[in-house]
Amino acid sequence: MKLFTDKMAAEKLEDRTSERLHARILEISKIGRTENEGAKRMGYSEEESQAKHKVIEWMQEIGMQVRKDGAGNVFGTYKGADSSKVFMAGSHLDTVPDGGHFDGAAGVLTALEIVTLWHEAGYKPKYDFEVVIFSDEEGSRFSSGLTGSRAFMGMIEETELDKYRDPDGQTFDEVISNIGSDRQQFLTAEGPSKQIAMYAEIHIEQAKQLEQKDLPVGIVSGIAGATRTKITFRGAAGHAGSTPMTERKDALVKASEFISTLPEVAKGISETAVATVGKMNVSPGGVNVIPGEVELVVDARDINEDSQSQLIKAVADHANDVVNNSDITVETDLTTRILPIPVDTEVIRNMEASFKRHDLLPIHLPSGAGHDAMSIGTQFPITMLFVRSIQGISHNPEEFTHIEDLTKAVKVLKDFFENL
Ligand SMILES: [Zn+2]
Repeated sequence: MKLFTDKMAAEKLEDRTSERLHARILEISKIGRTENEGAKRMGYSEEESQAKHKVIEWMQEIGMQVRKDGAGNVFGTYKGADSSKVFMAGSHLDTVPDGGHFDGAAGVLTALEIVTLWHEAGYKPKYDFEVVIFSDEEGSRFSSGLTGSRAFMGMIEETELDKYRDPDGQTFDEVISNIGSDRQQFLTAEGPSKQIAMYAEIHIEQAKQLEQKDLPVGIVSGIAGATRTKITFRGAAGHAGSTPMTERKDALVKASEFISTLPEVAKGISETAVATVGKMNVSPGGVNVIPGEVELVVDARDINEDSQSQLIKAVADHANDVVNNSDITVETDLTTRILPIPVDTEVIRNMEASFKRHDLLPIHLPSGAGHDAMSIGTQFPITMLFVRSIQGISHNPEEFTHIEDLTKAVKVLKDFFENL
């Protein structure tokens, strides 16, 4: 298996943008690089701060104004022709504990590259352009997620912070003091000072669709919203030896029937709907006891609100259908529903035009995973580009994306902003 630095050494670099992206990804990768050449930069850690500082230096080299908010989010501003609104692009620099060097960093460094190219050409964008680094996107610090971008958009309640504990048992207040902030400054994190005319995020795909179609870049058509439905099947526990097959009320047999046919339910809703059972509790849980109760959680997602509603209903109906005419009962409980974030059709059309100007096929892809763009998308227009991930591997030291593909994404997004 080739390690990250070997793969980087073999990359072909055809222009200044490729060279700069290559050098900068390598530079950031040194911060928190693990033994197997993975990345370890937890949100609100020393490593995340160091990575932010490296990028701040590069921002300042081209004259960008840099500021930080109470959630540790970093904003580098490049002056545009009009300061009444702002364009924004970026992502995050934190990683999961044994992650790769592209998830997050790719979005920050490509956004910075767009500004660098403008700076070299003496070009002014229509509005001020901010490159943003959101803190703790992965949420591995507090088992949360999108921490910095949600704080920026005022989406975090104080009660949520009270529940936070990091892997070492530290409270939120202890952790946030490490970056020179406190609870109050975090909760009143600056927020958008003016209207965000567009937020853009380039991110690695973390799936194989682009690779399978042999395409470097794709347009994200929407970000799926996760829903969780807790489903409890109840039958009767009994002796596994002495209860005849005809007299059993085995909750796990019904639950299995439910799970094995769940994929068809999701496929019946839309092409982008997905449903997963990743967690299940069987009670009483003895090898010689018939399962009396099974509790499982269905994680179901789709990229638009209507089909997400249909999916939620279909999952519950499916559970009821499975137990129909049996001695097993079922209870369903929708515990979480995050609304999907759509991408405006006009924004997609504009992006398609940029793809065509660069001789790229404008393929559409749904985002199954959450990204910082989701937080901004609750109030402002967003666009996202996915860049091909080798074998779809992510959150893993083997994660890799070719510099050539990232360079294409830079060119397309730069064109998009220039024509907005
Ligand atoms: Zn990410």
